[in-house]
Amino acid sequence: MNSLRPLSRRNFLAVSAGALAASALPFNLSAQNESGEPVIDIHQHTDYSGRKHQQLLAHQRAMGITTTILLPSGRPVNRPSTHNGVGNGLQAKATGNDVCYQFAREHSANQEFVFGANEVPDIPEAIEEIEKYLKLGAVCIGESKFGVECDSEHMQKIYELAQAYNVPILLHWQHKMYNYGFERFYKMLEKYPKVNFIGHAQTWWANIDRDHKDQRVLYPRGKVTPGGITDRYLSDYPNMFGDLSAGSGLGALERDEDHTRAFFKRHEDKLLYGSDCNDTIGRGLGCQGARTLAVIRRLAPSKEIERKLLYGNSKKLFRL
Ligand SMILES: [Zn+2]
Ligand SMILES: [Zn+2]
Repeated sequence: MNSLRPLSRRNFLAVSAGALAASALPFNLSAQNESGEPVIDIHQHTDYSGRKHQQLLAHQRAMGITTTILLPSGRPVNRPSTHNGVGNGLQAKATGNDVCYQFAREHSANQEFVFGANEVPDIPEAIEEIEKYLKLGAVCIGESKFGVECDSEHMQKIYELAQAYNVPILLHWQHKMYNYGFERFYKMLEKYPKVNFIGHAQTWWANIDRDHKDQRVLYPRGKVTPGGITDRYLSDYPNMFGDLSAGSGLGALERDEDHTRAFFKRHEDKLLYGSDCNDTIGRGLGCQGARTLAVIRRLAPSKEIERKLLYGNSKKLFRL
């Protein structure tokens, strides 16, 4: 995405669409993007930091997204697994299953929006609630972002549910905050070989680097030495995938471009584009999702790999 490009009529409409009702738009802006190719965004949220539904719709269309996966929060509860409410709404005011499901239903043409299923793992209603939305057509479980051990009995029940419904589960890894025990997660990858796990967030991306020693550092910079925990999980386990979204994903791709080219090649069948940005612009430097798209297009070693990262891998994994 080139933010310096003159604003065409179509671009102008996409930018300003937030002010308009969708029905007032002269044509379906979602039908194509600048590349003329599909782009699947596996990571967005409803009501993200207070963003309105029409702004979310305009944002995704401005980015040129053809299919968006809406990841719900769990219900708001005050207990240790939400850090007594800090983690409610995915710590971003994101809304839950019912809102994502309704939004996706209202924008289901050409699969423009689909939805995931989620719940706080350690409440008695968790499995029933997640299963309710899997039955309604959720394409994944997540975003699972709770203060629980990654191999706790509660999480393992959810992995079993993912296996039963043949859907991937997306985990937010953040040291001492969300999903504890990243270094022993290989045990879950081995115990649930039929479940596809998607890694996301700071601790996931910091550990592409073999020399990442201080886990308190969430946004490391500089050269990357291959062979970190994340790199090994992606290499050694066919059921481990990587979500390129968020500031952590973008930072990991920008910190060492030579490494990123090789990383894309090494894991060309495992990496999935996602935005996870909460702005209302959808293009240029003010939109982290647009910047991630630009980095992928610039550093992908081939057009074939670019296509895998932007939609091919997700189309398969989420069965879209
Ligand atoms: Zn997250
Ligand atoms: Zn954005």
